[in-house]
Amino acid sequence: MDTAHTSTQHFIPTQPIQSVSFLGLGAMGYQMAKHLVGEFETVMVWNRSFETAEAHAKQFGTQAVSLAQAVSADVIFSCLPTSDVVDAIIEQALPHMQPGSVWVDCTSGVPDQAKQSQHKLNAIGCQFIDAPVSGQTSGADAGTLTVMVGAEAAALDYAKPAIDCFAGLIVHVGGLGAGFAVKAVNNTLFAINAWAAAEGLSVLKAHGVNPSAALSCLNKASGQSFATLATFPDRIVNRTFPKTFTLDLMAKDCGIAIDLQTAENVPTPVMAQVASLIRAASNQHPPGAVDFSEFAKFYEMLTGINIEDSKQLQTPKNSNDKKA
Ligand code: NDP
Repeated sequence: MDTAHTSTQHFIPTQPIQSVSFLGLGAMGYQMAKHLVGEFETVMVWNRSFETAEAHAKQFGTQAVSLAQAVSADVIFSCLPTSDVVDAIIEQALPHMQPGSVWVDCTSGVPDQAKQSQHKLNAIGCQFIDAPVSGQTSGADAGTLTVMVGAEAAALDYAKPAIDCFAGLIVHVGGLGAGFAVKAVNNTLFAINAWAAAEGLSVLKAHGVNPSAALSCLNKASGQSFATLATFPDRIVNRTFPKTFTLDLMAKDCGIAIDLQTAENVPTPVMAQVASLIRAASNQHPPGAVDFSEFAKFYEMLTGINIEDSKQLQTPKNSNDKKA
């Protein structure tokens, strides 16, 4: 992928940010948008299901407005499921945007589509920034998200005070699309760690080791990862699987990483295999139906071993062999 920016007009901001808006008040956006309140003169929100925007306005003092009004802001945030959804909204927004505004897309999106969006916005004197986030809904709630930005530097400089409202860390990783690329690889690395942890804990359980006991060791040893530190104890081993980041979105992110690998002929056998397994797990459910942690249930179906704590531990499968 070529992450060099493709803008034809350089961005020269004329005034500090007065108005901001947030499009897409889902699990992430609802929390991210609240941090903008009080920082700018006007904070507008829009959501496809408009009652969610109204609830946000009531809860946090934002203004619930039409899409046409929202995209007239100086800085427009979006956090939507896919780049295709963002593209469709940009098409509707173009006639209503003000020259000089910056669109900050926090969706986990497709790098090449960032360049296409920039092309469309640049034609009307606006800028696009890809600024996907990491840190889960808890990070969105706390305003401590890691933001990986692909952008022209001047556009990021302009929008940064607004991004700062919900960020713990902002890194300018390159030109347009670079932020989306980093995000896709990040989530695929997480998927690899999570899948590997499911395998390791299943083997241990088959040998009579309770998963929580195993995690206590792994998490103070070199086998630890975010998956063992958080995902397994907080979602899988305790069988809660709280729905905060859906499995279809995880499968989408891994698919974006695989497209990047293919585009540049980089062999990535482990990434490709885990992306395919996550896709298979996701295909068991309608889009949006289950949390990403339910990939473990798919793996459990293959092994017949549940990665949950149990008072009565399973008998090791080869115990009879040992007697023989
Ligand atoms: P959700 O499914 O919770 O929310 C999706 C939002 O997009 C909702 O506001 C929904 O509106 C809106 N939407 C969906 N389809 C359309 C459409 N066709 N037109 C207009 N609006 C639409 O997603 P998340 O908040 O979890 O994720 C958003 C993005 O952030 C994704 O790209 C995801 O990969 C990424 N992300 C998610 C994280 C998480 O922990 N959840 C962490 C980091 C990144 P409506 O209310 O009407 O359905």
